[in-house]
Amino acid sequence: MKTRFINGQFFTMIKEDDHIDSLITEHGKIIAINDLVTKVDQVFDCQQAVVLPGFVDAHLHIAGYGQQLSLLNLNKEANKNIILEKVKHKLNGSFLYVQGHMDNGLNKHDLNTVSSTVPIVLRHSDYHGATVNDAVLKLLGKENHPTGILHELEAMEAVRLVPPTTQEQLTEFIETAIKKLQSYGITGGHSDDLYYFNGYHGTIQSFNKVLKTLPFRTHLLMHYLVLDDYLKSGDPWLDQHPYLQLGAIKIFYDGTLSSQTALMHHPYRNTDHYGERIFSKEVFRTLIKKIRQHELPIAVHTIGDQALEELADWFKEFPVKNGLHDRIIHASFALEKTVEKLKELPLIFDIQPQFLSSDLPKGLAIINPKTSLIYPWKTYMDAQLILCGSSDAPVEDPNPLLGIASAYYRQSDDDGLTYGENEKLSIFEAVKLYTTYAQVPTYLSKQRGYLKVGFDADFTLLDTNIFKHPEKLKTTKVIATIIDDHCVYDQRK
Ligand SMILES: [Zn+2]
Repeated sequence: MKTRFINGQFFTMIKEDDHIDSLITEHGKIIAINDLVTKVDQVFDCQQAVVLPGFVDAHLHIAGYGQQLSLLNLNKEANKNIILEKVKHKLNGSFLYVQGHMDNGLNKHDLNTVSSTVPIVLRHSDYHGATVNDAVLKLLGKENHPTGILHELEAMEAVRLVPPTTQEQLTEFIETAIKKLQSYGITGGHSDDLYYFNGYHGTIQSFNKVLKTLPFRTHLLMHYLVLDDYLKSGDPWLDQHPYLQLGAIKIFYDGTLSSQTALMHHPYRNTDHYGERIFSKEVFRTLIKKIRQHELPIAVHTIGDQALEELADWFKEFPVKNGLHDRIIHASFALEKTVEKLKELPLIFDIQPQFLSSDLPKGLAIINPKTSLIYPWKTYMDAQLILCGSSDAPVEDPNPLLGIASAYYRQSDDDGLTYGENEKLSIFEAVKLYTTYAQVPTYLSKQRGYLKVGFDADFTLLDTNIFKHPEKLKTTKVIATIIDDHCVYDQRK
């Protein structure tokens, strides 16, 4: 079936401002551009929309995002009555697990007014506490606890009572997440999910079930703890079917900025500690050797500048198989000398522009003032490194327009100030993060990320020309999302 897409401004992303007036698709591919002669079976009226190659989120947790969307989240609500009303509304007779509670003194007696027999756990928003009702205290053998407000280990014990995700729930999480992503104009995502829920086989099974009816270009990283399951499975690497790929092995090099465990070159402000390596160098060596034995690339969580510097040396000592790329997830801080080393290596950087908007200036208050390169996206881009845009959802809202705005404006949500004028990307570069560049990790045979003959028919339709009006990024609406020639989201319907 041939479809002609008309009445749009189609930005090819080949070079700045390069656009065409119409295109024809067939069997999931673009087969012609600016061709009004060829006979087609149907016409898709874009109604003046701006059409881009489909948005891709290069690092997120699809199942985790679906869980966040499915669970009740109190979003730090302060009003006790509103909280109790929401809990009451959600309670259906089985164990209720709620996230995002800011401890405001609400206690077991309050929760008991909703139910004292059905277990209720309100996880605190800092993840270090939980408020529970009598039913939970009974299960814990702590009937006499005065408040039901638990901290640290006691809270963890309560959270451990939450029933594990069933196969059906996991499938629901994935379906919920993908539908929401499609409504954001996202046509594909690179997701780290295979360890956290029902393991390698269970999670792939749920993805396959959803992808049968819901097209979405899913690229799954493989957590290092499921590597053996993958090796035993006999599954091929990369392409499983048109909507599912298996990618690099996900490992961790350091911790996080907020917990001061990201491995930094200078000690944290007013301290003498530098952060942490998740694995000792010996263990890391064993791990990377094993992964290379199987000729696989790695995707490494790396936040601190010292972590990045050490990784550059590891990559040099244990190079990835010819033609493949390793990935660095986050790369929030860097030393100038490291950027020089990284230039020589086949690497992809999965960056999260929204981290700047939500982390700074809080982050600046804890790192050493000597820290030089902070979210240095322009420096990376000038060094010809491949940068892919991502949200790390559920950490950030996976709306790519918000990520593009953060990359372009580098503005903090906290104080509205701009951080690092010289590291701003142009609007064209910022859009490329979520289109052309984000497609690189799906590898060479794939024709995605441009509007070109022979390329996949994955498109994002917007109501605003964001190249001309970047000031409207945050209010721009997605009109439709096309994946593999299927319209999977249409705001007009
Ligand atoms: Zn992540």
